[in-house]
Amino acid sequence: MPTYITTLYIIIILCNLALALLVFYKNKKSYLNIFFSLFTLNLSAWIFTIYLLYTNNSYLLLIGRLNFVFAELIAFFIFWFSFYFPIKIFVINPTIKYSLSLLTVLLVIVTLFTDLIDKEEVYNNVDGLITVHGNYYIVFALYFVLLVIISTIIVVLKYKKMNKVHKLHIKYYIIGSLIYIYFGIFSNIILTTFTNSSNSSKIGPIFSIVFVISTSYAILKHKLLDIKSVTVTFLLFTLNILSFIDLINSTTSFTIILDAFKLFSTLIISVYIIKNLHKEIHSRKIMEIFAKDLERTNVKLHKLDDAKTEFMSITAHQLRTPLTATKGYVSLILEGAYGDVSDKIMSALRKVYRSNERLIELVEDLLNISRIESGHMEYKFQETSLNNIMNSLYETFVLRTNKKKIDFTINTGSTNIMIYADPLKIKEVISNLIDNSVKYTDKGFVSVDVKIKSGKVDIIITDSGIGISKKVLSKLFTKFSRGKKASGIHIEGTGLGLFVGKKIAEAHDGSIKVSSDGEGKGSKFTLTLPILKINL
Ligand code: ADP
Repeated sequence: MPTYITTLYIIIILCNLALALLVFYKNKKSYLNIFFSLFTLNLSAWIFTIYLLYTNNSYLLLIGRLNFVFAELIAFFIFWFSFYFPIKIFVINPTIKYSLSLLTVLLVIVTLFTDLIDKEEVYNNVDGLITVHGNYYIVFALYFVLLVIISTIIVVLKYKKMNKVHKLHIKYYIIGSLIYIYFGIFSNIILTTFTNSSNSSKIGPIFSIVFVISTSYAILKHKLLDIKSVTVTFLLFTLNILSFIDLINSTTSFTIILDAFKLFSTLIISVYIIKNLHKEIHSRKIMEIFAKDLERTNVKLHKLDDAKTEFMSITAHQLRTPLTATKGYVSLILEGAYGDVSDKIMSALRKVYRSNERLIELVEDLLNISRIESGHMEYKFQETSLNNIMNSLYETFVLRTNKKKIDFTINTGSTNIMIYADPLKIKEVISNLIDNSVKYTDKGFVSVDVKIKSGKVDIIITDSGIGISKKVLSKLFTKFSRGKKASGIHIEGTGLGLFVGKKIAEAHDGSIKVSSDGEGKGSKFTLTLPILKINL
């Protein structure tokens, strides 16, 4: 056998052994890990017997028979392994369990001590080593092939019931086993059966490493980077061994120096690459810890937010009932239902009424927010005339604007625009926008223009009021955000109206935009909504 093949064999044996130990030590109590390690140990022993058969001339028959025994044990343990990989779902019938174990023991004894499976290992100069099969070789071949096929079927049957991670593990297993076991069966059993030469059996061991690496990866649940590092380490290891063999085989002093230099450089490069790989793995692990932390915090925050929304909703409901009762009684007194009341008390009661109204509005805003945040805001969508809403809003505000001596206009145009909306809620949004303009404008004008633009309608509210600074502009439409100047003018403001308005507009497939040239330069709010139809 050429030196590079024997070297490769030794490397594969060492790698398999290392992986068997690694998997076993990772969890000594798990049957999955135990059966995998037993399978891999037998695989190493099997490869070792092939190595011995081609490098040594004594005890050929014993080594040849051991080679068959290890192949039988490989199939036996892979069968057990398949029940536990990636997790155990099926229970093995005890009769099958004991019969199979008994059959395996018998087969091992027959293989070792009779010539029924392996009759002879003959060496001749033309063909090299030839294994002469015994009369019952077919029993071995069937035992091996059937067990391997059944094991694959067991793992494949589990696939559907697995979660995403386990499915991925099964995929690694299947790819690895297809490459190794089926190539192995082909080269070591089928080819040797038909050619009666054991030359092709040299290939089998080489495929085994693919299976061992891919399955260990699945068991150890390492991430992609780790398998990358295993492969890179394995390749570097091979490169160094090959350089070392070259050095041992060098004859002249010139080649010795050259090979020593080669080995030295590969060693340094290998150390450098492995060190960097480990650094990468380490930093990725730290990132993973951070990501998990962040996820946990996020879940906590969501829970807190939900609790807050629920608290707000309960409190607001509780507050609304007494406030409505207060409103009812105060308005009855104001209307004279309880008899005459002095002017002094009347004036005080009007103040109580107004304050109570503000509180009701605030509670309504808070309720709206909790409904929006918990996704329970209910809309009664219907065909709605925008002009009707605008006309009634004009009536609502004209007295106030006249009193403030502000020029107030609403231009709806000659068309009657129909929108598909919850009329009360949309009216509330436009009303809040006009109300703000009137509140924050001392002189000049407040104008409302309705403009049609490519299937949508813009309701533009422009005023010549206090304006909005760039800093405040970027924060508007968020809860409780108010401009400094606005807070001074209208102390009771909450900074909730625009937030609620925006959410309602969005629920109507619309939007609200704001622009202002800065403080003292007026503001412009544009509510855009889709048009249902236009009645001329
Ligand atoms: P509130 O008016 O109760 O404070 P809003 O959510 O309706 O709550 O408005 C939020 C903030 O937006 C106001 O406090 C004010 O700073 C600013 N704002 C809204 N409309 C105008 C406007 N027309 N002119 C100037 N500032 C405005």
